[in-house]
Order: sequence, then structure tokens, then C-alpha cells
Amino acid sequence: MTVPARSATATGAVAARADNLTKVYGGGETQVVALDQVTADFPASRFTAIMGPSGSGKSTLMHCVAGLDDFTSGSVRIGDTELSGLGDKRLTRLRRDHVGFVFQAFNLLPTLTAAENITLPMDIAGRRPDPEWLDTVISMVGLGDRLRHRPAQLSGGQQQRVAVARALASRPGIVFGDEPTGNLDSRAGAEVLGFLRNSVRELGQTVVMVTHDPVAASYADRVLFLADGRVVDELPGPTADAVLDRMRSLSGDAPAFRGHRL
Ligand code: ADP
Repeated sequence: MTVPARSATATGAVAARADNLTKVYGGGETQVVALDQVTADFPASRFTAIMGPSGSGKSTLMHCVAGLDDFTSGSVRIGDTELSGLGDKRLTRLRRDHVGFVFQAFNLLPTLTAAENITLPMDIAGRRPDPEWLDTVISMVGLGDRLRHRPAQLSGGQQQRVAVARALASRPGIVFGDEPTGNLDSRAGAEVLGFLRNSVRELGQTVVMVTHDPVAASYADRVLFLADGRVVDELPGPTADAVLDRMRSLSGDAPAFRGHRL
């Protein structure tokens, strides 16, 4: 059964937004400005990749926009909610109810089955998954015959599919991926990226992914490039070659091979 995509793209809705976002670590001589007045929109029902040389602020941006980390100044909005000023409890609830995460490490609980892992965050929150949506998500990631398996009985690619289904289960307003294919071989990685892309194209979800792999970034609708804590470029409709070219120009003469840190 298909679930109609949301029409957010048509209305130009924004799933999350950073405004003049600045994050400074430490102080004095060891002070690091990880984000320097970053302003960026993450449009609803779009797949955005964040790229940039190592240390450019990609993870910090993702963590601040996802409400996982605090920031020094500026503002972040998820949907209509401004994050600064939210207490810990409301921030936790916002993340739980409106944000999905897929990390490089699959972070599944070993004693639970795939099905139990997928619904765990909702079970903890005391929410019931919409059964039609859950069926759609599980069949999209092709886990139908593996639902009773435990993580140790699944390949890395299958475990990450469980993590993708878990991130999507509550139909969150936005899903963040932090190098979600970093632990997978290229075939399993391509599958996971295909699922993330389909969740956007077919189900109307919003995905923001940090990656250093130009091939992974080419699955996105657009790529934001960071350098020295600033947004320095944006590429709509990226191809892997075009992404690689921009990365080369940002990294100077640093080698830019697939699978290696730039
Ligand atoms: P990227 O994800 O692009 O590799 P990061 O967001 O991890 O970049 O880091 C941006 C900058 O902030 C880097 O200079 C990094 O060393 C610094 N940084 C990140 N986390 C911390 C931290 N907890 N304490 C101090 N500096 C940090």
C-alpha cells in the first residue's frame, strides 16, 4: 500500500533552518570557531547532503541543527520550533517526536529483534506506530523476511536498513544521517542511500546527510559545502564528478579519492 507523499515541496516548507549559527569550542588560545554565522535552509521533502573538508564543521552543524548539541549564538528551528530556550525535557521530546537519526554505527540493541529495534523509540515514547506507514517503510527497505532476526544474524547492510526503518518509523519531520554508509561496502551503501532517496521521493520525507563521499552526496537533491565553519557553496542536482570537482577546489591539492577523508 502506498502512502501519499506530503506536498511540502510544493509549498516551499522548510523542515529545519539555521540562522547566523555560530559554535565556538573552548576559549583563549585553544578556542575553535567550528561554525561561523551559518545560515542554511533544509527544505521539506528534500534530500540535502553536507560536505566539506575534514574539520570544516559538518558534524557540528548537523548536531546543532538536530538539537543534539548547544550553540554559541544564532538560532535553529526545527519545523516551527525555535531550539534556543527550550529546556532539556522539551528538546528531548522534540527530538523524539520529530527527528530521526541514522548514524555510521548502526546502534541497534543486540537482544531485540529487527522489528523490536524499529519500533523501540516509539515504544519508549508510548506512541503507537501507524501500521500502514510502518508496513510501507519496512517493505521499502526490504526487511519483510528478516523482522524476527536479531542484529547479530544480519549483515551490516541489513542492520543499517533496520536503522533506516527505525529512523522513519515515527514519520519524523526530518531525518539526519551522519556518514550512514561509512561502515558499509559500496553495494550495501548504495542500497541504503537508495532507501534514503526513496523515502524523500516517494514518501515525502526530509533527509539531511553528512558525508565525505561524493558518490553518496550524488544521491541528494542538493549539496551544501562547508569550509572553515562557513557555507561556501551549494550544488543542486549533484553528480559525483561535480561534487568531486568542488571538493578538490575546496581542499586545495589534497587528494580526493572515494572512501578516503578529504
Ligand atoms: P567535520 O565534521 O567537518 O570534520 P567538525 O564539525 O567535527 O568537522 O569540527 C569542526 C571544528 O571544530 C574542527 O576544528 C574540530 O577540531 C573542532 N571541534 C569539534 N568538536 C570539538 C570539541 N568537542 N572540542 C573542541 N573542538 C572541537
